[in-house]
Amino acid sequence: MRKLYPNGKRKAFNITYDDGVLQDVRFVALLNRYGLKGTFNLNSQLMEEEFTWIHPCGMEVKRLSTEAVQGLYDGHEIASHTLTHPYMQELPEFEILRQQGEDKQRLEALFGREVRGFAVPFDYYSDLIARSAQICGFEYARMSDVSLSYVPCSDWYYWKTGVYHIMPELVPFVEGFLKSDQELAVCQIVGHSYDLDAEKLWETMEEICATIAAQEDVWPCTNLELVRYLKAMEQFDGVNRSNQTLWFEVDGRIISLLPGCSL
Ligand SMILES: [Zn+2]
Repeated sequence: MRKLYPNGKRKAFNITYDDGVLQDVRFVALLNRYGLKGTFNLNSQLMEEEFTWIHPCGMEVKRLSTEAVQGLYDGHEIASHTLTHPYMQELPEFEILRQQGEDKQRLEALFGREVRGFAVPFDYYSDLIARSAQICGFEYARMSDVSLSYVPCSDWYYWKTGVYHIMPELVPFVEGFLKSDQELAVCQIVGHSYDLDAEKLWETMEEICATIAAQEDVWPCTNLELVRYLKAMEQFDGVNRSNQTLWFEVDGRIISLLPGCSL
């Protein structure tokens, strides 16, 4: 028996981009063209302040305003990236909680939908940040550490990313994913859409999107869809104890198992 993703897919693919910058407009259009899903981690307060900074390449990086994001991320996941993108190691406990909890509330009000994912800004991570994310009602928290692994995460408040898209490993990582026989394999690509301008990566990312879209056995999903499916699969003990349909391959046949049913 082999565990599968929804509709009998063997692998899951996700792109997750941080900061909500101008280049997201072009990038979301790219994902939409290929029927792929993204998770976008936003800082609600910086969206209100028209925050900008200068990239080392000389390019001005601009945040999208609260008006500009209306409708932009439809069909994709919006997740929290804190209110103001602070260095979290410098923050007292109550401020960590506020940066996560208030950002979640503001994003939910702005977009009129639930926000259940959190991605940490910068590289620092701690048990306090993980615990605080849990208290705020997030279903997962993503770290900045890179795993270069296709093995699905099982510790949802210590989620390591797959590959950072400016790494030289990007293309080999995707190629390896397509060849991988890992059960419930995951390919997660992380970055910022401004990197696509700064590092001249648009063409590479478009090739990756086109390649993934052409795969019969890949499920394009948001982080939250992936987390919820894997959590449902974790509870499986011969009986589907979750509220969603689970999928398996048994003796070469693909089987869907409705909630409450046993295999
Ligand atoms: Zn960021």
